[in-house]
Amino acid sequence: MLKTRGYAAEGPTSTLAPFDFERRELGAQDVLIEILYCGVCHSDIHQARNEWGNSIFPMVPGHEIVGRITQVGSGVTRFKVGDLGGVGCFVDSCRVCQSCKEGVEQYCEGHLVATYNGTEKDETTPTYGGYSSQIVMDENYTLKIPTNLPLEGVAPLLCAGITTYSPLNRFKVGPGQKVGVVGLGGLGHMGVKLAVSMGAEVTVFSTSPTKEADARSLGAHHFVVTKDPQNLEPLANKFDFILDTVSAQHDVNMYLNLLRRERVMVLVGGPEKPLELASFSLITNGRSLVGSMIGGIRETQEMLDYCAEKNITSDVEVIPIQQINEAYERTIKSDVRYRFVIDMKSL
Ligand SMILES: [Zn+2]
Ligand SMILES: [Zn+2]
Repeated sequence: MLKTRGYAAEGPTSTLAPFDFERRELGAQDVLIEILYCGVCHSDIHQARNEWGNSIFPMVPGHEIVGRITQVGSGVTRFKVGDLGGVGCFVDSCRVCQSCKEGVEQYCEGHLVATYNGTEKDETTPTYGGYSSQIVMDENYTLKIPTNLPLEGVAPLLCAGITTYSPLNRFKVGPGQKVGVVGLGGLGHMGVKLAVSMGAEVTVFSTSPTKEADARSLGAHHFVVTKDPQNLEPLANKFDFILDTVSAQHDVNMYLNLLRRERVMVLVGGPEKPLELASFSLITNGRSLVGSMIGGIRETQEMLDYCAEKNITSDVEVIPIQQINEAYERTIKSDVRYRFVIDMKSL
């Protein structure tokens, strides 16, 4: 077994602290990745604090992983020692269900092996995430990382990037479309960059007026402060697509009302409690409210290649791992522009 250092939460009320554990030995299809950077996703916090009620402790969070491949199994063909490798929100899946066969493994109908807070294919051994020195990965679930982008800014693409790219791609956002992005946090700022890069006219909806300058520097064309609902009235029935990235309680109806006929709003955030939906928000104009969860391996690779071509990365604040607990508090207060990324050299 491979001795590995990490940071873990021992329980829902404990802070993260150093934690030693073991990774499996490499199989024929496996690569060993020395982790260089790991992003801090809001779902790390939800899960470390058992806010979704399904936590397994001790927990080593982290599913926005970029690193260097230091060893490869005998059967590995896609990677060699020295290559960069990336890991997103899952490290394996059943491989035989319809979703896996169609390359949308995130919706695996069998056992999706979450990068952390999950179990390996044996459904017993806990998985540990990227707040750690190294990870053993099947090459087929390892992403190729572009070499022309700063790696700390690439790490958050593995969750925040694909979570926003996938619905923009699925609903064919493009030139001439009016797109709304609700919330300007880790997900929202990627949504803005990606939607702008696809040629859409982008409006950011935010509760904090202080984010207007940032929104515009990310490329947004318009900025609307949502504290006063009157600001939204002139925008009713004007939008082609809305990406709702908010993970706190909020009113989805006021955004649904902005959609034109038969257009779509996508939820990608995960508030703890159910949202209130007025039927008429959908019935009027025949609108749709849909969800989207990360992306499959193929689409995640496509997103990384797209970001390499368009020179898109996440705006990040790099921290040593010793500041992780403070980073959690600041993430909750939206006091980060726009993603914390751990420099794993500090471990
Ligand atoms: Zn995430
Ligand atoms: Zn499957």
